[in-house]
Amino acid sequence: MRIAWMGLHRGEEPPLVGEHGSGTIFFSGCPLHCTYCQNCQISGRENPVGIEVSPAELAGLLLSLQQMGAANANLVTGTHFIPSVVESILLAKAQGFTLPIVWNSSGFESPTTLELIDPLVDLYLVDVKTLEKGVAARFCGSGSYAQAIIPVMEYLLEKHPEVTVDVSGILRGVLVRHMVFPGAFSATIEVLRWFARHAKGKAWLSLMVQFVPPQGEAMPAVTERQYDRLLQVLDELEIEDGFVQELADNIPWIPDFTRDNPFPETFAEPLPAFLALRSR
Ligand code: SF4
Repeated sequence: MRIAWMGLHRGEEPPLVGEHGSGTIFFSGCPLHCTYCQNCQISGRENPVGIEVSPAELAGLLLSLQQMGAANANLVTGTHFIPSVVESILLAKAQGFTLPIVWNSSGFESPTTLELIDPLVDLYLVDVKTLEKGVAARFCGSGSYAQAIIPVMEYLLEKHPEVTVDVSGILRGVLVRHMVFPGAFSATIEVLRWFARHAKGKAWLSLMVQFVPPQGEAMPAVTERQYDRLLQVLDELEIEDGFVQELADNIPWIPDFTRDNPFPETFAEPLPAFLALRSR
């Protein structure tokens, strides 16, 4: 496996962050190549930033995250390493690892492969980026995403037809993430309608509106009128469970994975054991 960064991250949805932060593992590489990717230093095809780790090393790092007080182990874009990730988690569990596992992915993966890791996953944070081929081709680097996401969601919703929150605030089930793409407002409405038909009552929704355009490109942000329309559609479709990002004048920042802490200081804290492995 190749890993770009590990540490506590506080930029996730509130129940994931807990007291100290979500224990986030950013894997290097990605099956998609989105034109807007903010993590392009680590997601690209050619020499993505990161270090190679064995399953035994990742097991040790997971245990260090637990000691650091992480609320969970949040595995970001690990799709292409699933068999080794499974081996790592099993090794860690044999040594006392008990954190909930969050599978945080684009959804561009196959149900057959997900079956390998499913018994270990507590919460899926899965994107439904779009159901329109043209929008997928333009933003995700592959028109086939629009078809590929459907069987993945069918599989997940059948296996996990309910979101639960236990006494310690641990969320289990499926949380669908959707980002509004610039100039593709109707594609978002289509996703919301799909969610209401197929996922409402089973999964939660996290709707994000703060799109950060690729460097050097000017793209229209979601307007207040569009934001009000989104809230109205959520109301009409009776989608109540989940999160809606605020429409704010956000200063866009792109993480720099060549730094010990790629994120603003208040957002994240690196795992010392990972930095030690990186500098060996
Ligand atoms: S799925 Fe996420 S990590 Fe992968 S290329 Fe798209 S935005 Fe980047």
